[in-house]
Amino acid sequence: MNYKNITVAGSGVLGSQIAYQIAFKGFNVNVYDINDEVLGKAKDRISDLKQRYQEDLKATEEEVNSAFNRISFYSDLAKATAEADLVIEAIPEVVQIKTDFYKELGKVAPEKTIFASNSSTLLPSQFAEATGRPQKFLNLHFANEIWKNNTAEIMKHPGTDAKVFEDVIDFAKAIGMVALPLQKEQPGYILNSLLVPLLDAAQMLLLNEIADPETIDKTWMVATGAPMGPFAILDVVGITTAYNITLAKAEATGNPDYKKLADLLKSEYIDKGKLGRGTGEGFYKYPNPTFMNPDFIQA
Ligand code: NAD
Repeated sequence: MNYKNITVAGSGVLGSQIAYQIAFKGFNVNVYDINDEVLGKAKDRISDLKQRYQEDLKATEEEVNSAFNRISFYSDLAKATAEADLVIEAIPEVVQIKTDFYKELGKVAPEKTIFASNSSTLLPSQFAEATGRPQKFLNLHFANEIWKNNTAEIMKHPGTDAKVFEDVIDFAKAIGMVALPLQKEQPGYILNSLLVPLLDAAQMLLLNEIADPETIDKTWMVATGAPMGPFAILDVVGITTAYNITLAKAEATGNPDYKKLADLLKSEYIDKGKLGRGTGEGFYKYPNPTFMNPDFIQA
């Protein structure tokens, strides 16, 4: 892997974080977005990350400033990618927007450039054709708060070149990620393939009045040694997100249990302002939730 110049397309929540993390690790970064107004907001968003790196990673002022100075901003895709070894796409999770973007990118980017999508739910084979270079395309999926939650799930599609896959794995390590390669396409990658069924099962136990959230979490924590249970995780995800996902599942599957669960999340939590960790209360009350008390798993 001899990548030096990285372009990040899309400068929203994840794009900003990806760009800053890569710059922090010493690479040159070009950020591309649709217009200068959006890019102005991105500059502020990225600048705000300096403080997080100082607080959470004990980075020095010089380190955070020089990272910021390694980033350039472009609203012209050809200019943004003229030197790119790798383009990481973090634009909206909308198939048509991504398809149009890859068609354009495939035309303007140099032949050597590798493309990687940060998509959470869409598979690389959906866009491989549009890129015009399927062998140089795969998914590279980061988590929110990338500097702390430093997973990089790297997922190839059947046409991805083996050397490209290996290079992107090496690149992920070079930017401080724990590289997690997926040898085949898998909706939800590894993490959500594990987490979603766990969270679903926990919520169904609650819906069916089998046990309360504390007992369910306690079971998981004592039995597996995990530091938090599914309801503590749901508080981090946010109850509104859990509600939206459940509602979408109710519509997609027609399973009435999902509708009942969505109603429960709304009436017992959302309508009462219990939105999760961010608002101070969800299934637990913060900043000192009962599951953090050492006695919680003792009896
Ligand atoms: P976001 O809405 O915060 O940002 C999207 C950015 O893309 C915006 O700045 C927008 O102006 C820009 N954009 C729109 N159309 C564009 C185009 N044609 N070309 C270039 N830029 C364009 O979205 P986000 O939450 O950062 O998500 C982006 C991608 O990252 C999605 O694929 C999502 O699945 C994935 N992702 C998000 C998270 C998360 O927690 N938010 C986590 C992992 C992966």
